[in-house]
Amino acid sequence: MERNLEEYILQNYKRAMEYNEIQTFYQPVIRTSSRQVCGMEALARWIAPDIGMIYPDKFIPLLEKEGLIHLLDATVIRQVCARLRSSITNGETPIPVSVNLSRLDFTLCDIFTVADNIVSDYQIPHDFIYFEITESVMAEQKDLMLGIVEQFRTAGYQIWMDDFGSAYSSLNVLKEFSFDELKLDMSFLRPFSLRSKRIVTGVVRMAKDINIHTLAEGVETEEQFAFLRDIGCEKVQGYYFGKPMPFDDALANLRKKGIQIEATQDRKYYDDIGMINYLSAVPFMTHEEHEALSTARQLNSIPLMLAEFCNDSFKVLFYNTAFEEMAHNSGMFNNVFT
Ligand code: C2E
Ligand code: MG
Ligand code: MG
Repeated sequence: MERNLEEYILQNYKRAMEYNEIQTFYQPVIRTSSRQVCGMEALARWIAPDIGMIYPDKFIPLLEKEGLIHLLDATVIRQVCARLRSSITNGETPIPVSVNLSRLDFTLCDIFTVADNIVSDYQIPHDFIYFEITESVMAEQKDLMLGIVEQFRTAGYQIWMDDFGSAYSSLNVLKEFSFDELKLDMSFLRPFSLRSKRIVTGVVRMAKDINIHTLAEGVETEEQFAFLRDIGCEKVQGYYFGKPMPFDDALANLRKKGIQIEATQDRKYYDDIGMINYLSAVPFMTHEEHEALSTARQLNSIPLMLAEFCNDSFKVLFYNTAFEEMAHNSGMFNNVFT
């Protein structure tokens, strides 16, 4: 990093936190089965009046080095809670938000008490704020982390593993910690090759086997979205649906794209459906057939549709590409797939 920017950050971070120059941007998380927004990730930006926007990759490592990162994270949690409180008070549908915790938060302060006090101050139900932790923290400070993660979960907060697969992945971490959701690092989709598709498919299958929800980061195309939906990855996040933006801009962007907000009462229902393993037909394939596979449609080649029948109406909740093709080719369900 240029020395000047480093000096600027160290000289001005106090002012930035005091005068609201640190702002929370929001990036939507989309439910693959419904294409509705089911959450947002809170991402910090520093809007400096004199030099403009500073991105987290510039100021977070420095704040970590100086032992100040917990102050930033508390600031973001406070802004997120204020935002949620205003949605609830105004009678809008509140959108759950995930916030990032730094590995140093766990030693610099009692992060559970800091976060929980802020959530209490704003009277936010605990299932509207999720905490993301990167996997490397877990391996480094296992015993400390086990206790704190349990504290959060016992209090009704979800803990998500961020950037899974990005650096020193340890599957043991998955064995030892109870996570609610696995965020697959965007590097899994780059390049979007047969090999990477197979790895993502395996990770999603494994996550379902051990009862952890799945979210893929860095989705930039409809093709990636369709692939992830077909293999049963429950949620996606990426530039295809929206870059991190101020909250009102993020909402306007979703409206423009025709994406609706998931109703609060539907969340548990969709979360439960999300644990269904659409890949469960794969074990019936021979080794040779498995080797010959190359596309998402082939990787999940058994036509599958999930529908609900309720109050005399029939609603399709999920179908894969194989089902859609079968329906088209056979002329079945013409009224469903127009
Ligand atoms: P992360 O938590 O893995 O956040 C996702 C990052 O990926 C964000 O970058 C986001 O803008 C970027 N991203 C999302 N979708 C796409 C996509 O489709 N394509 C590409 N190329 N990039 C995409 P951002 O906002 O620059 O954040 C970088 C990292 O900074 C975050 O990674 C997170 O670890 C950290 N961070 C951000 N805000 C905070 C914070 O308040 N506290 C702490 N401790 N860390 C934070
Ligand atoms: Mg994150
Ligand atoms: Mg991430």
